[in-house]
Amino acid sequence: MELKRLYDDHFAETVLKRMTSGKTGGAMTKKMLCDWMGEHIGPKTTPKPGQEGKGKEIIEMPKATGRARFSRPALRLVKELLLSGLSPAEFKAALLDLNNPAYDELRKAVKLVGDGGREMNTQEMRGMIAADLDFLDNIGASWDKISIRDERLEAISELTQAEKEARQAAITRMIGMEINPKIRHRLTLLDHILDEVIADGRPLDRVVLEFAREEWLGPKRRKELMDFQAERKQQNITARLSLGGEVTQKAVLKHQLLTEQGGRCLFCGKNFSNPKTTNVAHGELSFENAHLAHIVADSKGGPRAYVNLVLACDGCNRAQENRYHADAFAQNRFPIGWDAFMGIVSGCAGMRPFKKKILCTKSEDEAALMVQNKTALQETAWIAKLARVLICLKLGWKLDAEGEERRIVVVTGSVTNRVATRYGLYSLLGGPERVKKLADAKAAIETAVKNVEEASDDELDKLCDDFPKEWKMKKRKGADHWDKDHALWLLRRLHIANEDEINEKDRKDDRHHALDAMVLSFLSHKAGNPRESLYFGLPPGKNWKEEFSLRLSSVQAESLRFEKPVLRETIYGLRPGESGKLSAVIRREVFPMAYGGLTPDGKLIKFAVGNLRSRLPSIRIKSISSLLGAIANDLEGIADGQKREKEWYLLCQDLRLKPNGPLIKKVSCWSDKPEQANYCNMSKDWTPEREAAGKGQWRCAKGSHQGQWVYLDTLSKPRIRAVKVFESIAKVKSDLEADSDCARVVMFLQSGCIVKIDGEVKSGAKKLPEGNYRVGGVEEAARKIDLYSAGGTKFEKIPLTSLLTQNFRRVH
Ligand SMILES: [Zn+2]
Repeated sequence: MELKRLYDDHFAETVLKRMTSGKTGGAMTKKMLCDWMGEHIGPKTTPKPGQEGKGKEIIEMPKATGRARFSRPALRLVKELLLSGLSPAEFKAALLDLNNPAYDELRKAVKLVGDGGREMNTQEMRGMIAADLDFLDNIGASWDKISIRDERLEAISELTQAEKEARQAAITRMIGMEINPKIRHRLTLLDHILDEVIADGRPLDRVVLEFAREEWLGPKRRKELMDFQAERKQQNITARLSLGGEVTQKAVLKHQLLTEQGGRCLFCGKNFSNPKTTNVAHGELSFENAHLAHIVADSKGGPRAYVNLVLACDGCNRAQENRYHADAFAQNRFPIGWDAFMGIVSGCAGMRPFKKKILCTKSEDEAALMVQNKTALQETAWIAKLARVLICLKLGWKLDAEGEERRIVVVTGSVTNRVATRYGLYSLLGGPERVKKLADAKAAIETAVKNVEEASDDELDKLCDDFPKEWKMKKRKGADHWDKDHALWLLRRLHIANEDEINEKDRKDDRHHALDAMVLSFLSHKAGNPRESLYFGLPPGKNWKEEFSLRLSSVQAESLRFEKPVLRETIYGLRPGESGKLSAVIRREVFPMAYGGLTPDGKLIKFAVGNLRSRLPSIRIKSISSLLGAIANDLEGIADGQKREKEWYLLCQDLRLKPNGPLIKKVSCWSDKPEQANYCNMSKDWTPEREAAGKGQWRCAKGSHQGQWVYLDTLSKPRIRAVKVFESIAKVKSDLEADSDCARVVMFLQSGCIVKIDGEVKSGAKKLPEGNYRVGGVEEAARKIDLYSAGGTKFEKIPLTSLLTQNFRRVH
C-alpha cells in the first residue's frame, strides 16, 4: 500500500511533469529518479539491524520461512509433494520406484538413495530411509493434514517402560540419529551426567532443564540479541531516571514504550500526559491509565515481552477489547483509520523497524508466526524435546504422563534470571570482595547526594570537583559552575547503574550455576505457564535472599562441566624453521594484517601501521616482508589517518613484487604458536613418514588444554604437564610415568575441580584453613594455583609446594 502510494506520487510529480515539460524530451533520466528517491524515501531504504534508517523506511515483509533445520528433508518432500500435484500416496509410490527417473534428483537431495547409485538407503543415520516416508500416509488423501511427526522419536519414547538395556540402546540410537554435532554433544553430556547421578545413588524425582538460548544462536543472531539487551538496559536506566522515586517494572516498561511511540497512543494518535505527574491537561491522554496491550494475543502465543507490547490509551484499549488491532481497525473501532495508523507507526523513530513495525502492520497470523520465530527458538524446543525423551528413557519414566505433575520442567534462562533478579539473589554472588566494593560505592554515592543537597552555592563547585574520577561527572555543557540539579541528576544516574550492577549476575563466580540451579529447584511445573501466579516467583512466606545467602555460603559448585576446548586452527603443514626444527606455517591474508584483529562477528578492528609492522617478522618470504616494510614507512609519512587507511586498501588491491608479477593476497607466515608440539597431525592418510616430513592436516587447540597433570620430579619438586585437547589424558600419564625425570604422578587438575587440604596452608600473608576448595586456574610455569573457598573467597597464586605439604588432593 505504502509502495503503491509512493509510486503514484512519483508518477504524478515526476514522470508526468517531465513528460510535459519537454526539457528532457519526455525521458526520465536515472539521476532524476535517484534524486527523487533520495528526497522522498531517504538514502537508506533498508536500515540495518539496530540502525535507524534515514527518512522514510519501506516496511519489509517478515520472512514466513526458516523452519528448524532438523526437518528440512521432510519439508523439502512436502514442498515437492505440493508442486507435484500427486496425492500423497502416489507421491510416495513414485519416490519409492527407483525406475522412475523423474525423482532421481529429489531422492538424492534427501539422501533416500545410497551414495553409490540407485539402491535405497538403509542406514537412517545417513539420511532418509524408506520407512521415513510413512509420514506421507498419515496425510491421507487431502493436503489439509500435512504435518511432519517425528515417528522415530515417538517409537523410541514408547520404550520408556522397557528393560534398562533396551532403554540405554534407544538412547544411544537417538543420540546417533541427531545430525547436529552440537546437539549430539550436549545429549551425550546429559547422558553421562545422569549416569553419574544414578551411580552416586542420588534418587531423582524431578528434573528442571534450563536452556540458554544464546547457546544455540549463530554469531549474527547472538550479536543482535546482545545489542538489543544492551539497548534495553540503557532505556531502562533512562526510564527510571525520568520517572524518579521508586518505580515498578511495569512503569518502566510503560515509559520505554512511551518513548518508543513518540509519546502517542498508536491507535488514536493523541499525546499522553507527562509521566512524572498525575495531572492530565485538556486533550491529553492519561499516562497513568495507559495499558500495555499485546500485539499478538497471548491466546495466539504472543508473549508478554517488550517486542509484543504497545502502549494504548484507556479508550483505545476498551475499544479494541480482545480483537487483533487490525481487525479493530477494520471495524472502525478506533478514532483514526488504518492509513493514519500506518503513518504513526512508520513515524515512530524509536521503534525497532525490523521487528515491531512489521509486527504492528501485518495480519495476525503473520505476526503470530513472527513472534514465535523471534521469541521461542525452535532449536531450543527441539533439543528440549530430545532431552526430555532421554531423561525418561534413562530413568524409566513415562513420557509426559497425563494427570500427574510433570516430572520434567523445561524453562529458558530468562525465567531463572527474572526470578533471581526479583529477589535480589544475584547480589549474593562474586564473593565478599565484590559485595563490599559495590556496597562502598553505593554508600559513597549516597553520601555525595546528601552533601550536594546540603551544600551552599559557594561550596558546590569544590564539592563536585572532588568527585572521584571514575564517576566521570561533567558540568553542564558550556557552564563555568556546577548547578545542583544537574549534579543530583548525574548522581542519581550513577546510583541506578550501581544498583543494576549489584543485581547483575557475576558470571566470573562459578557459583552462579549453583544459584540458578537452586532457583530452578523451586520453580514448579507451573513455571511454563504465564497464567500461573508462581510463574516468575518463589513460594511466598520466606525471606528468600537471606535463605539463599545462607545456602550459598556453603556451596561449592561441584558438577560443573567444562567442555573440551575445540580444535580451532588448522594449518596446512610444518616447515623447517631457522633452527631446523619443524614449525607451523599458516597462510595469512595481507590486508587484515594492518588491523588489530577481528571482532567475533568478523569486522576488522582499528587500523594502525604498527599492527602491520609487528607482523612483518612472521612472514616467511623475505622479499614480501621487505616490500611490506617499505609500504609501512610510506604509510607513516601520511599524516591523515583516514587517508592512510585508504592508501593501504588501494595498495592491497594491486600488491605485486614485480609490475607484472602475481597478485599477492595471502602470504605464508609462521604461526603464532610455531612449535610442533602445539599441533597434532590429524590427517586421514597419516603415516610416520608423512608426519616426519611435516605433511598432512595439522590442527591446534590455540593453546587450550583439557587439564594438567601434576607430578613430582626426581628432586620432589612439583611440575605441571598440560594435556592438550588432542592428547589422551591416560597416554600423557603413562608417558610421564615412563619418563626418568618424573618420580611420581600426583593428580590431574582441571579448572573447576574440587580439591582438599588436611591442614592450614600459609602463603605470604594469606592463610587457607583446611577444607575443600575449587580450582580457579593453574599457572604452569610458576606452579601456582588460584583457589576458591565455599563462600566464594578467592585465594590467589598459592604455590603448589605449600599445598602439597597438607595432603593436597583432588576429591571431585
Ligand atoms: Zn488511544
